[in-house]
Amino acid sequence: MRVYLGKFVPLSPGTYLGHMAFVIYFGGCNWRCSYCNVPEYLDKARCDEMLTSDLLTEIIHAREFIDAVVFTGGEPTIQGKALLSLCELVKGEGLSVKLQTNGSMPGVIEELLMRNLVDLVSLDIKALFDNYSSVAGEFSNAENVMESIEVIRKHHASWQAVVPVIKGINELDVPGIVKQAGAPLTVLQAFESDGVDPKFSGLSPSREELIAIAKRCSGKLHIKTKLYGEEAL
Ligand code: SF4
Repeated sequence: MRVYLGKFVPLSPGTYLGHMAFVIYFGGCNWRCSYCNVPEYLDKARCDEMLTSDLLTEIIHAREFIDAVVFTGGEPTIQGKALLSLCELVKGEGLSVKLQTNGSMPGVIEELLMRNLVDLVSLDIKALFDNYSSVAGEFSNAENVMESIEVIRKHHASWQAVVPVIKGINELDVPGIVKQAGAPLTVLQAFESDGVDPKFSGLSPSREELIAIAKRCSGKLHIKTKLYGEEAL
């Protein structure tokens, strides 16, 4: 089976808290957030193809140093068959699996959970649900994100919400976004402007600004910045 790939990173200490992970960036995304920091991965046709068996070989080369694999993108769930196949192969190696998703494909998430192929779902919650497209773009779909949360709850899966915090765009809404997600853990992630349209430069909150925003939120929170990584509050 073939998979459209942005890239893979054999050793990442900061992508899956508490794990050393092999990270796979799937090619292609069904959304077009204007602030996307991986624009080069959005169009599948512009990404390389790789056999899932060859990707597994790369994972096995790193096996001695890793205990987990992270699937991210782009949006991994739009290549559902390849994602399911890779998760099966990775679980067969005894590795933990984290899925990072925009929540647009609840059916794929449900299939993964029904087959016990994911250990942690990391679900982006980008905006208030009644205002989703103004932040995540015209192709985004808040109903699907809400359905993904329902699916995760139905299957009692481990999950976290990730709120990308962008100054001047969604920062005032963050307490409401955290509340509506109702996740056991929410990670407030500083928007990274590297590789993004220059009009978004300067919109990345500092660690101190994230902490101040977190103080206005309820529930269990982490913050994540490029410099300091993920930190519990
Ligand atoms: S969902 Fe993620 S990968 Fe897709 S356009 Fe938005 S930020 Fe980029």
